[in-house]
Amino acid sequence: MISISNRLQKVSTYIPKGSIIADIGSDHAFLPCYCIQKGIINRAIAGEVNQGPFQSAYNQVKALGLENQIEVKLGDGLEVISAHEVSTVVIAGMGGQLISNILERGKDRLPGVERLILQPNMGARFIREWFEKNNWKLIEESILEEDEKIYEILVAERTNTPVVFNEAEKLLGPILMKQKNSTFQKKWKREKDNWEKILLQLEKALPSDEVSERKKLLKQKIIAVSEAIK
Ligand code: SAM
Repeated sequence: MISISNRLQKVSTYIPKGSIIADIGSDHAFLPCYCIQKGIINRAIAGEVNQGPFQSAYNQVKALGLENQIEVKLGDGLEVISAHEVSTVVIAGMGGQLISNILERGKDRLPGVERLILQPNMGARFIREWFEKNNWKLIEESILEEDEKIYEILVAERTNTPVVFNEAEKLLGPILMKQKNSTFQKKWKREKDNWEKILLQLEKALPSDEVSERKKLLKQKIIAVSEAIK
């Protein structure tokens, strides 16, 4: 049995039993190997754009004798899958902007995918904006800390009704805002402190339209976060 991080373990809890997954940016293919060994899934595609991680994934799958169940493919984003080939897509351990970019560029491969499990290291708002534009309903969100880093996990399924988040929900996550757990409070207190320091610096900067625009945006974010964590 391979052991994986708490972060990836948490991701695995959102994978529907028996689904076929694509793990995009799989690196060592830890997640699909773990899910097969645990009996959560029977088949997976592990995609990697870079040769080094692709080789690591391939070696890992071979070492565990899982070649018949996990196909390791070299390719950019969703180009490693065809439409209707998998039912769940996991993209973990990257920035939210990159994740939403991968989804946008690979939209033609998403028919047949019922669930997206996305774990951004930062910039989750880009993913929520992509959900809004593409009608994916956020069904679960979680936040966890590991090795002094805080991670968010977003789980979404298709919907026919329009998805709309307000500015605070986009930034903080509508479900996480309601749960308001201690990790959430810690993350956003840290961010707020950081923005307040930047704001202080900007107060000393030469006035310009750009500076006032940046100050305005920072103040809006500080107010939204203060409201959410109080
Ligand atoms: N998913 C694993 C995890 O969460 O532990 C590995 C995360 S690792 C930090 C990010 C991986 O994504 C790297 O191995 C990188 O090569 C891969 N990657 C980055 N952009 C990608 C893309 N457009 N398509 C596929 N893989 C990509």
